[in-house]
Order: sequence, then C-alpha cells, then structure tokens
Amino acid sequence: MAIQGIPGRKADLGEGTAVRRLLPTRGRRLVGPWCFLDHYGPDSVQGPGMALGPHPHIGLQTVSWLFEGEVLHHDSIGSEQLIRPGQLNLMTSARGIAHSEESPSAHGPRLHGVQLWVALPESARHGAPAFEHIAELPQAGFDALRATVLMGSVGEAASPARTFSPMMGAELVGDRDGVSRIPLDPAFEHAVALVWGRAAIGELPVEVGVIYTLPAGGTFLELRMEKGSKVMLLGGAPFPEPILMWWNFVARTPEEMLEARVDWMAGRRFGAVDDALPVIPAPPLDPAMLRLRR
Ligand code: MN
Repeated sequence: MAIQGIPGRKADLGEGTAVRRLLPTRGRRLVGPWCFLDHYGPDSVQGPGMALGPHPHIGLQTVSWLFEGEVLHHDSIGSEQLIRPGQLNLMTSARGIAHSEESPSAHGPRLHGVQLWVALPESARHGAPAFEHIAELPQAGFDALRATVLMGSVGEAASPARTFSPMMGAELVGDRDGVSRIPLDPAFEHAVALVWGRAAIGELPVEVGVIYTLPAGGTFLELRMEKGSKVMLLGGAPFPEPILMWWNFVARTPEEMLEARVDWMAGRRFGAVDDALPVIPAPPLDPAMLRLRR
C-alpha cells in the first residue's frame, strides 16, 4: 500500500495558540470529504483557555473531538453544549450558521483535541443548519486496540452521526502494546494521524504532526501501537466536487464566498450567538486568491 507522509504546518490561531494544521496541506487538500484537520495541544490551560468568539461557517460540518479537557459550544440556532473526551459535537452549517467555542469557567488543567471539517456535497450544502451532540458513541475492539466510531462505520460498529457522503472517522486507542488489523472500505481513501504516543503503519513509524494518506483499494490497516497511544483514522469516497475553501467557508465560486463574507459583516444570514466573546470579523478577501481544490 502506497503510504504518503505529509508534514503538517504550524498555524497560529492568535493569542499564542499554535496548532498543527494537517489538512489542508501543500501536498493534500481532501481525504474523502474531510477538508480540514487541526490538532491542538496538549496545552496547559491555567488561564482562560480556549476563547474562540462567534464566527460563521458555510458548506461544511464541524466535528469537535477532545482527548483531554472540556469545550463549551454556543451557536446561532440556540445550541449550548459542553463536550468532554469521548463525546462528539457535530455542527452542520449547510447554508450558514455561527458559533463560538471556549473553555468553560471551571475547566481541567489541560486541553487536547482535534477540530475537523467535512465538505458538504451539493445536495446538502444549501439546507438548514443543524447541531447534534452524541455523548455515547459505538466502540469496537480490533486485536490490541479499541476504536470509537465518530462518523460512518468501522467493521460492524456504526455511528449515529449524520453524514451526507460516504465517509468514516474514528479514534483508535492502544489497549496494550501490539499489532492490530482494522477493516477498511476499499472504496475509501484514508488518512492516519498520530495524536499521542507511539505507532507504526506496518513497518513505517509515524510521527505526531504528520498526516499519512492511503489511497483507495486497501481492505485493512495494519497498525502497531503502544498501550495508551491515540490515532485518528479518517476516510471517505474521493469527493467528486471541486471545492473552494477560504477562512471558515467551503463553497464553489468566488461570488458565493464574497456573498457569505458580506452577509457576515452585515449581520445577515448567520444569526446571533448568545456569548459575551467578541465577534470575529472576516479578513479581507481577494477573489483572485481563490483556487478550486479537487
Ligand atoms: Mn468554527
């Protein structure tokens, strides 16, 4: 199996928060419909912690997943939801939603997680926004590891989370040192990201901060993990629609992007978030900078 390791880059979210951006990278834009992957922490959160004020999204689902700590979500359709490790916050922006994410006033000493986006297909991207919180997700054991299924399915274990194109996402944790075989859908391309500990794909040792991509056609993933190590496994059918990504938006044309930006700055379309944090303004947009990503 042709595995490609692509180093992520450090992205600065402001206020000294540095993250590892694993998607998109120079080498890779999409893995199935997955179009964005930030891995943050583990960080000490002695002070206020995460404080991401209201900002908009279009054309995507946000998938919030924690390994340590807590994050409080508010959105413009009235959702207020704390998430903890092992729980899923899934926000389907469709034509437009705004949200904020912050550390709750009483929070643990560390924060460690991933923020993921899924591109919505044409059939779903113009619909109404939605939010779901899933506190209990299905788990399945494979040899020396345990998989928690966020999206789609792994073997017989299927997540109830709403998806709009063929895809999967799971957290894999080593129960003990050993080699495990995880079944894959051969129609899917996949990506592996180590977030904690030590692991190897077959004989290839993997590093934190690098995304390892596997082409479609594989029927299983052979993963060596040390006990307690954690890996994110993402996959999906190659996304058939060329997408544009800019700021917090996924669209198809520069005109759509400009319209969403204007609507956010004018206080239209996205609604208001009940949160005291300052609203995040859209950066300037030069349509010539937008390129279709396939
Ligand atoms: Mn967001």
